[in-house]
Amino acid sequence: AKELGGNRYEVADPDADARVITRHGLTNRLPGALERGEFFVEYQPLIGLSDGAVHGAEALVRWGHPVHGVLGPDQFIPLAEHTGQIVPLGRWVLEQAVRQAEVWQRHHHGSRAPRVNVNLSPIQLHHPDLVAEVTRVLDETGLAPESLCLEVTESALIGADQDALKPLRRIADLGVDIALDDFGTGYSNLSSLRWLPVSVLKLDRAFSRGMSHHPADPVDLKIVEGIVSLAHGLGLSVTVEGVETSAQAEHLRELGCDIGQGWFYGRPAPPEQLGTLMLADAS
Ligand code: C2E
Ligand code: CA
Ligand code: CA
Ligand code: CA
Repeated sequence: AKELGGNRYEVADPDADARVITRHGLTNRLPGALERGEFFVEYQPLIGLSDGAVHGAEALVRWGHPVHGVLGPDQFIPLAEHTGQIVPLGRWVLEQAVRQAEVWQRHHHGSRAPRVNVNLSPIQLHHPDLVAEVTRVLDETGLAPESLCLEVTESALIGADQDALKPLRRIADLGVDIALDDFGTGYSNLSSLRWLPVSVLKLDRAFSRGMSHHPADPVDLKIVEGIVSLAHGLGLSVTVEGVETSAQAEHLRELGCDIGQGWFYGRPAPPEQLGTLMLADAS
């Protein structure tokens, strides 16, 4: 994201998806879609690789468009970032997810209280109300800060100066986990781990892809082994995305990754389905 001044940011890639939507004239419907209740949140399980227990879930937003059906975030987030709508939308997703986690903890939890992960757009990260919003939502629901994890992408943080990172640091100081999403793509800069307030690395699913077969790609194995050892050495936990097969899950577990996420464990689903999974886990 490029700063335009006055808290306006331009998304680096003037996205092809946004252009497609513009062509279809969907742009007109985005403002007001939140008020009309057209968005909903699905949750994808996060699973402990060593014990198979449900650790929590990542909140993923969808747009139930009255004409075009369900649209994935890649089809409207770039547009929402461009128009600034991402700020109220992101706030709404945060509220939904934190309330949902509180409900799970009251009704469904097993041995461990389920946690929830929420994606933050770079625009939200630079919005002056972010710390107040996170504090307010946690206060209103009573969810422990330790049960919330905010996911930010490397590209949103690399190049940010210390001032720009202050809000994130304050949120981390509350006890909220910060995850570095899509780690290992594009902007990777291992030395930035020295000063970013992150506690979780989320390895991009490109790494899972290298583990698809027996034997796994030896170079990919070495790279993941190195990242895990570095992360653990720095006190960070490692989540790996895009786990689609048991072979991948097994390799990643052996390499010491902590948490797995992907179709092998469960697709993004309505919150009730996650509740059921958490109940099954408890028995
Ligand atoms: P992400 O944060 O990297 O989320 C993971 C994406 O991978 C999700 O796509 C998920 O459905 C997909 N996925 C999960 N498991 C697998 C698997 O095993 N194989 C494959 N091929 N894919 C898998 P989704 O839901 O379409 O979300 C796309 C992106 O949209 C997310 O990528 C995230 O960057 C963004 N996004 C989603 N929800 C929000 C939100 O509330 N706010 C913001 N700012 N961005 C969001
Ligand atoms: Ca994410
Ligand atoms: Ca990711
Ligand atoms: Ca991604």
